[in-house]
Amino acid sequence: MGRQIGDRAVVLGASIAGLLAARVLADAYGQVTVVDRDELPELAMHRRGVPQGRHAHALLARGQQALEELFPGLTAELIAHGVPAGDMLADARLYFSGHRLRQAPTGLGLLCASRPVLEAHARARVRALPNVAFLDSCDIVGLAATPDGRRVTGARLLRRADGSAEQVLDADLVVDATGRGSRTPLWLQGLGYPRPETEQVRIGLGYATRTYRLPPDALDGDLAILHGATPEHPRAGALQVLEGDRWMLTLAGILGDHPPIDPDGFLAFARSLRFPDIYQAIRDAAPLDDPVGFRFPASVRHRYERLDRFPDGLLVTGDAVASFNPIYGQGMSVAALEALTLRRHLERGAAPRPRRLFRDLARIVQVPWDIAAGGDLVFPGVQGRRTPTTRLVNAYIARLHAAAARDARLAGAFVRVAGLVAPPQSLLRPGIAVRVLWGNLLLAAGVSGRSRRWSRRSSRAPRAMVRGRWAAPPGGRGGSGR
Ligand SMILES: Cc1cc2nc3c(=O)[nH]c(=O)nc-3n(C[C@H](O)[C@H](O)[C@H](O)COP(=O)(O)OP(=O)(O)OC[C@H]3O[C@@H](n4cnc5c(N)ncnc54)[C@H](O)[C@@H]3O)c2cc1C
Repeated sequence: MGRQIGDRAVVLGASIAGLLAARVLADAYGQVTVVDRDELPELAMHRRGVPQGRHAHALLARGQQALEELFPGLTAELIAHGVPAGDMLADARLYFSGHRLRQAPTGLGLLCASRPVLEAHARARVRALPNVAFLDSCDIVGLAATPDGRRVTGARLLRRADGSAEQVLDADLVVDATGRGSRTPLWLQGLGYPRPETEQVRIGLGYATRTYRLPPDALDGDLAILHGATPEHPRAGALQVLEGDRWMLTLAGILGDHPPIDPDGFLAFARSLRFPDIYQAIRDAAPLDDPVGFRFPASVRHRYERLDRFPDGLLVTGDAVASFNPIYGQGMSVAALEALTLRRHLERGAAPRPRRLFRDLARIVQVPWDIAAGGDLVFPGVQGRRTPTTRLVNAYIARLHAAAARDARLAGAFVRVAGLVAPPQSLLRPGIAVRVLWGNLLLAAGVSGRSRRWSRRSSRAPRAMVRGRWAAPPGGRGGSGR
């Protein structure tokens, strides 16, 4: 432990954001208690409090790096446990804006863990910390605070057992990681504070997921397929291998066009995807379970950083701050980045100042929020303010995807931004913009691309035939994206 800031911290919620917050708080508080309403299993199992755990859970490249910073050796541990791993682009078929991105190595990891396995390994790491305790099967019913409401002094709990009475868990610091359903806005109101402003992008998303047994080489060596939605084909799908030689197929539809959860309807929805490879992979495969559904009405962001007043002794993290359209796979990665930010604040050696922390969390949330909320505005039925910049960016990104079908460097640049490893502005750099322009000129000239797939035997630069001669994109080698 570094310099101890306080005796006791309490984390509300033992899902990914709560576990990661507990990890960093354990370095600064004498005792950390993590509370959850679920019974927390030793093993990787689905649990009621995390119903989304039954659906595909991509870990973005930056999230993987952040988890590794928080739990050194976690990636190797997961791989040793049987989690398939590869390269984010070379080993995944990514379809965006109706184009299959050219596959090539990026050096960014693709870790194909199911959500329960990822959470179980993170939980085991936190359990192993000597000053962290879990209090499970406990409902958090409110906060305890000083009479003037200026300081939060603990959390009010009710054990899930007959006849149990409400108890208060005292704390120097309470961190709310109870997810989308967080009641901090209400609790603030009860303490005499304003509620934070809330932004929403209503996407009306429906998920349905089923797992299958497929032959090991079902996708010719690829580990995943992602069909992104487009305005013309708004249905999406993701097929991914998982530990235990299972394959998980998650189907998604927006604005009420939800995938059915009866087996025939599910299969028909898979068949209706714009590209046939997901359907072809699963149509004759043995399912391991029945499809399960999930509804996600809107991306929601609470603007805690805009509040003028906020009680000391209380912080909020994870989905309780911002919950993104899950199709972009950002939530766990953002939670990990928020934990690293909390760690930086704790390293100052004093109790974190809520408003300062919220300002920094807002910076972390901004880019993924722009990617998700801005990206959703490409669908005409999604309500939201479409600024000229939003329209321009969405049009540019679609053209980038088109050019990235043959240009591995563009594909790699996009994957870095989507993986939160590079800033979105990197896609506007002259070297990238020229390639986008060039690629689209070739497309307009009707030049067909070469094989869109990176060959594991050879990763030669992509080139295109222009009027009888080979042309490489301006600015260099085409390249592998590295
Ligand atoms: C369908 C779906 C798919 C997703 N896919 C991805 C993906 O591909 N990649 C990705 O990175 N993210 C994805 N996410 C988001 C990801 O699941 C979350 O961002 C991540 O779990 C972090 O959330 P959290 O820990 O803040 O909250 P949650 O995961 O929602 O956990 C909240 C915890 O608090 C507990 N809790 C809540 N209220 C109380 C209470 N009153 N008393 C006691 N305990 C309580 C719950 O039991 C739970 O354990 C997806 C989300 C959904 C809905």
